[in-house]
Amino acid sequence: MTREQWEQRSRSLAIEQRAFIDGAYRDAVGGATFANGSPVDGRHLASVASCMAEDAELAVRAARASFERGDWSRLAPVQRKRVLIAFADLLLAHAEELALLETLDMGKPIGDSLGIDVPAAANAIRWSAEAIDKVYDEVAPTAPDQLGLVTREPVGVVAAIVPWNFPLMMACWKLGPALATGNSVILKPSEKSPLTAIRIAQLAFEAGIPAGVFNVLPGFGHTVGQALALHMDVDALVFTGSTRIAKQLLIHAGESNMKRVWLEAGGKSPNIVFADAPDLDAAAQAAASAIAFNQGEVCIAGSRLLVERSIKARFLPRLVEALRHWRPGHALDPQTRVGALVDNAHLDTVLGFIEAGRDEGAALLCGGRQALQETGGSYIEPTIFDGVDNAMRIAREEIFGPVLSVIDFDSEEEAVRIANDTPYGLAAALWTRDLSRAHRVARALRAGSVWVNQYDGGDMTAPFGGFKQSGNGRDKSLHAFDKYTELKATWIRL
Ligand code: NAD
Ligand code: MN
Repeated sequence: MTREQWEQRSRSLAIEQRAFIDGAYRDAVGGATFANGSPVDGRHLASVASCMAEDAELAVRAARASFERGDWSRLAPVQRKRVLIAFADLLLAHAEELALLETLDMGKPIGDSLGIDVPAAANAIRWSAEAIDKVYDEVAPTAPDQLGLVTREPVGVVAAIVPWNFPLMMACWKLGPALATGNSVILKPSEKSPLTAIRIAQLAFEAGIPAGVFNVLPGFGHTVGQALALHMDVDALVFTGSTRIAKQLLIHAGESNMKRVWLEAGGKSPNIVFADAPDLDAAAQAAASAIAFNQGEVCIAGSRLLVERSIKARFLPRLVEALRHWRPGHALDPQTRVGALVDNAHLDTVLGFIEAGRDEGAALLCGGRQALQETGGSYIEPTIFDGVDNAMRIAREEIFGPVLSVIDFDSEEEAVRIANDTPYGLAAALWTRDLSRAHRVARALRAGSVWVNQYDGGDMTAPFGGFKQSGNGRDKSLHAFDKYTELKATWIRL
């Protein structure tokens, strides 16, 4: 489709804006709504139900009742598998509608929404579904007069609080394993991007997920999110978002029922280019995409580029050239690779970091300005700072925009030291043709994902998550099931 066709489609798009509780859409109990605007062009999109504590109460009750009823929690895994595969199929059958909602809501390029986010979301559901009737429990190696069974049970009512950068995909990374293992779920999307979450509730219901098993509560974090985090009858809280809020959630769990808290938080990931990198052009292209993809609104963005001093003069021109292919464009244009930032407030934050970089003495190599003002949207030029010291704010704080800090180093030891000198530990990459160095440095990096001679590789088969203040627990892979299940030991005397 062309930009004109997407724009036409967006004008006739029916947008559901209510919460989904116990199998039906409903307004917030208090009747309040909040305005949801589009960063693509500044247009008003929807007046979305603003859920509060009383809505959380209804949703938790519905989730608990469905869990106790057992029409999902006590199904055979193969039956849950069938329903979840039908749900994944429905996501794909509505790919264009979901992609359009996602792009309008948070500004990412329509080509990415359609080509990456929606298929990845469906795949996350499908992968968990396909796995669930292939995992076995354990028999303990006991003495002969005992039978020790080690079994997994769903944890119960799960609240999932997700961010706005990959709204649908982050939701499905949680929903897939949470639902496959038999839990009842309450999804709380970001107030900046509630639309796809609201829409898929109906699709899940159509696929056969019973009433109360999957609920969606749009609303602000400090109201409905906090109500869920403090609720005495929520058994587990899974979260993707900022480290600041992640820490709050740990406090809320401690203040309430000690619910299990699983966190995927921020990052400031190092991308290390050694002088013996196998291909400087490939490294430059990957470094550009690592900071510009999804407008840099990526938890694993390669936001600190560590370049060995001896190749810097050869590498930087390649990097600047590579980033020229990541110009901002209208988010509904299928050719666009960099869309709009999520809103004007975030645009101001990112521009503020660029100001701070200048003030602290870093050298602006390219970008640095707002873009496409004539659209009414929140666009910015991808930006590179050279001469960054790892102590500067632009090297320490998560900017969550397309702003790259280039930092020099002279030795492997120094590179590892700088790379690990951060409170975060989500991801890291290194470029070298030395096999021993690749393994040595990969081991030394304190991060949940390490990429060698690539940036951002991976699929559903490997766990994803952080060391240090990037979080705990893992999404994706069979390890994700750990968050949604309790282990039970049953001892039978023979
Ligand atoms: P955020 O922390 O502001 O919000 C995340 C979610 O928490 C939203 O749904 C929000 O409404 C809710 N929330 C806010 N305050 C709350 C409170 N007091 N109680 C309960 N819930 C509350 O993050 P964001 O701005 O939406 O997303 C960007 C952040 O997400 C970045 O830090 C990014 O690194 C992180 N992120 C991490 C991963 C990962 O997998 N590690 C992936 C994507 C994004
Ligand atoms: Mn929005």
